[in-house]
Amino acid sequence: MEVLDTLARPLRDLRISVTDRCNFRCVYCMPKEVFGHDYRFLPRRELLTFEEIERVTRVFVELGVHKLRITGGEPLLRRELELLVGRLAALGGDLDLTLTTNGALLAQKARVLAAAGLTRVTVSLDSLDDEVFRAMNDVDFPVARVLGAIDAASDAGLPVKVNVVVKRGLNESSVVDIARRFRGTGHAVRFIEYMDVGATNGWRMDDVVPAAEIVAAIGAEFPLEPVEPAYRGEVAERYRYQDGAGEIGVIASVTQPFCGDCTRARLSADGKLYTCLFAVRGHDLRAIVRSDATDEELDAAIRAVWERRTDRYSELRTADTGRLRKVEMSYIGG
Ligand code: SAM
Repeated sequence: MEVLDTLARPLRDLRISVTDRCNFRCVYCMPKEVFGHDYRFLPRRELLTFEEIERVTRVFVELGVHKLRITGGEPLLRRELELLVGRLAALGGDLDLTLTTNGALLAQKARVLAAAGLTRVTVSLDSLDDEVFRAMNDVDFPVARVLGAIDAASDAGLPVKVNVVVKRGLNESSVVDIARRFRGTGHAVRFIEYMDVGATNGWRMDDVVPAAEIVAAIGAEFPLEPVEPAYRGEVAERYRYQDGAGEIGVIASVTQPFCGDCTRARLSADGKLYTCLFAVRGHDLRAIVRSDATDEELDAAIRAVWERRTDRYSELRTADTGRLRKVEMSYIGG
């Protein structure tokens, strides 16, 4: 049965983080100075098992969730992820089941993921300039392999979206190149404003390239026109190329926050439920799952959290809130 929060927002999307580890060290997300050799990631026993994720997700689906996104950390670091995909796909016929990945391990996994029931994939790629990209991921990973992974996913029948986080002075010069590269390929690109998630990236408002600036830069080269939102709560503002070569989207979470339509919950790899990307504390669902609680009790706990939900951080954001203590995106799930 559908559940609404205090601002009458339904629960529609669940982002499931399956690991807090990553094989990249993107300078704006998991900088090496913080996530170095001595960083203590979650021990294995603390991670939800695939069975536990399936059980929790089933309850979310019963509460009205119809879009599931597997994320992390880097989700493909979790061994045999296709087994989880298969379990989640079996939860309902019309579920949108997707995965966000940096692409490093995608080429070898694309077919099994598609066969297991993944409906589409989002690949993060912040630059086509090999030097810039290697410096951003900070593990010297080449662009060509991510492009290869995108092709492999597409060949496996998975629709692909490309996520580009734009940070002033780092990769803003890559925006038009990326738009050009993917025009006409059928792969939609989403340009994302750099957000003040976590506490380790030293975010400043000056680092944000406003979505309007991104649209103007692309539109100057390839004329664009706005596309009507497809559904309530659509995060991306979409634009189509006037010459019919496809569309792009921008996610203006900083300059035009969309909390009023936010229908997303996040499950961390250790089973904590977060009702906002900027929440400081999660609700421990693992403790419930590992007790002798019934599914009805799990349902009641999730429902109670959602019904009390008041979060609208991005609408309240100021230069000061940007400095508050917050959980890391790699932990809570991007
Ligand atoms: N490892 C996977 C990947 O690279 O897509 C999934 C997790 S990653 C945290 C998910 C997305 O969050 C990536 O596209 C990443 O660029 C984005 N991201 C990380 N930090 C961000 C920030 N401060 N603002 C906006 N997006 C961010």
